Amino acid sequence: MGLFDRVFRGSDEMFAKAEAEVNAVVAELGENAPMKMPETAYYLACIYAYLGKKVETLGQLKETLADVKAMMTREYKTKDIFTSGVGTAVAAEMIEACKYARDPAPYASFNGKYHGHFTDAEVRTLGVPLVTRDIPGFVVMIGPAPSKEEALETVKGYQSRGIFVFLIGGIIDQLVECGMTMNFDVRVVPVGEDIWSVGHVISLVVRAAFIFGNVEPGDYAGFNRYTFDRIFAFVNAYKPVPDITVACGAGAIQMGFPVITNDTDDMWAVPKSLIINENTKDWIETSLEARDIKIKVTNIDIPVAFSNAFEGEIIRRGDMQIEVDGSRVDCCEFCRTVDAKDIEDHAIILDGPDIDEFPVGSKISMTFTVEVAGKNWQTDFEPVVERKFHNFVNCIEGVMHTGQRDMIRIRVSKAAFDAGFRAKHIGEVLYGKVKGDYDAVVDKCQVRICTRPEGCTEVRAMANETFRARDARLKTMTDESVDVFYTCILCQAFSPSHVCIVTPERLGLCGAVSWLDAKATNELDPNGPCQIVPKTHCTDERLGAYDDVNEAVNKYSHGALERVTLYSIMEDPMTSCGCFECICGIEPMSNGVVITNREHAGMTPLGMSFSEMASMTGGGVQTPGFMGHGKQFIASKKFLKAEGGLARIVWLPKALKDEMADRINESAKELYGIDDFVSMIADETVTTDMEELYNYLTEVGHPVLEMEPLM
Ligand code: SF4
Repeated sequence: MGLFDRVFRGSDEMFAKAEAEVNAVVAELGENAPMKMPETAYYLACIYAYLGKKVETLGQLKETLADVKAMMTREYKTKDIFTSGVGTAVAAEMIEACKYARDPAPYASFNGKYHGHFTDAEVRTLGVPLVTRDIPGFVVMIGPAPSKEEALETVKGYQSRGIFVFLIGGIIDQLVECGMTMNFDVRVVPVGEDIWSVGHVISLVVRAAFIFGNVEPGDYAGFNRYTFDRIFAFVNAYKPVPDITVACGAGAIQMGFPVITNDTDDMWAVPKSLIINENTKDWIETSLEARDIKIKVTNIDIPVAFSNAFEGEIIRRGDMQIEVDGSRVDCCEFCRTVDAKDIEDHAIILDGPDIDEFPVGSKISMTFTVEVAGKNWQTDFEPVVERKFHNFVNCIEGVMHTGQRDMIRIRVSKAAFDAGFRAKHIGEVLYGKVKGDYDAVVDKCQVRICTRPEGCTEVRAMANETFRARDARLKTMTDESVDVFYTCILCQAFSPSHVCIVTPERLGLCGAVSWLDAKATNELDPNGPCQIVPKTHCTDERLGAYDDVNEAVNKYSHGALERVTLYSIMEDPMTSCGCFECICGIEPMSNGVVITNREHAGMTPLGMSFSEMASMTGGGVQTPGFMGHGKQFIASKKFLKAEGGLARIVWLPKALKDEMADRINESAKELYGIDDFVSMIADETVTTDMEELYNYLTEVGHPVLEMEPLM
């Protein structure tokens, strides 16, 4: 039997299983029963992507079987194995969908052992790390591996390189036996036990193409082109590889994802696509080479691993050796500019006892001051670099960091401590990353760490003086007070026509790029993603319309965009990529706007969740009435300035409202003289119904009711 036959047999097998499952669930629940995957606006995403059909009932799911069968042609041409392969992936999605038709959380009873379906919010969280290459690629590992030790070593190898790992089959049990932590946050996800759980991975991939690439439903070639060009994924399939997995592999290759296997049974090596390597211990290098993934290795001399994959690691109280707790004792992290003659490059100075001198479980004071000198260094870079400390420290295996400035919390795990991790290693990480990432402006860097309580009190007081001065300066920094804005086109790796224009009062819509960040990025890399946009020709102050901005978006969107305004949601609004923190949409009854954020899973008064609102825009297109933006922009005096400003906000999720309350109130007081404006904004504890919302706004005398109609 040749490879073609293996693919055909495998796709027949998957289809037969899908047909049986769909018929069974239809018999059980009826054709009119709803078919909806949780927290997604993309229906059954693989069917929607490849066939262009919205499946909303079990009857429609059943009808789609014929379309999937039609993909599985049998003319023994390469095209047949590819379309059969993609059809196999779609059939896999159907099998998994049947589980969700019966139960909205079919994997809940496995207590986290299997992840199953990915929500749209999870897909969107991948946006920023993908464009910054913090996640350089994805691997789908289909197991079991030759041994549990090898499974652990290979997965950790990928993890330490930042590769996002999806696991299917027996390899999951092997890693459970090894005690490995697996979840979305640590970027090692046990998707499911059976091969058809691969449908969830393909669903994630095609939704990335919808969300970031604006690929149209049913554009089969467009999806394959997008995944080939922009999603750096590959497959590791351990022998024996059954026909059904071989068929899935054909689909993966059509999407541009090479398959690496040690199975030689009727397999033909195809350069860059199907790679047979019997030495499974070499698979990491083989795989990265096959998918052309280059990884920048950060060599930092510490006794534990350092990788972006550890950013989401949680250290529980019971696993903690010590805790640095800024809410109880004096702590802070701080970057300051010093004269080159006053520092010694790479000095790590510890003032006070080391971690091993405190009893296990202690809550201790700690400050770390990163001192920097450089000919091209500017004090404006201090907060930019300082904000990265959270990310740098969090990438240490066994160390968890939250907060910033003098409200930090750091936990060091017993496992990291036992491996030899001590205070100076935090210094090593900060030194290595600051010197490595900012080499264009940092000539010398030293790190002072203090663990003496009195010393920490002094450092904290000094840092707070600087923080106050910086905040005062930032407050005076407005769009009018600067001479230039900046572009950011980082997201073009996934949203080819998207351009953010970053101004002091409007940060990038991912929330991660402020005007100062963009300025620093430009100075560090003058040919990089942040280019200077002069602001010499303002054509409409109310809208925030500039000829220079239009020229820039036209140039950097490669002609896809002609005009954007900075302050309007209705007239030429800024485009959205897919990784925005918040989405804002017009609420027609009140003439206001509703905003929701990625963390809020519930409904809004628009009858749409975050995912559904977010699906109205994205992929670098302009959609008047909907706009993605950063969280901090909500309180900006330039927020919807053209439409009357933040007085248009009628509804926010409670958690977001609470977080932004002080800043929104401050801006509302300055703009409109209103006290406690936030109390007039409804949230989910008030209502998610449009009419009730209107009644509430009337009751509290919300200013939006006196404003001009939006449309
Ligand atoms: S500022 Fe805009 S383009 Fe840049 S990373 Fe953020 S969302 Fe993407």
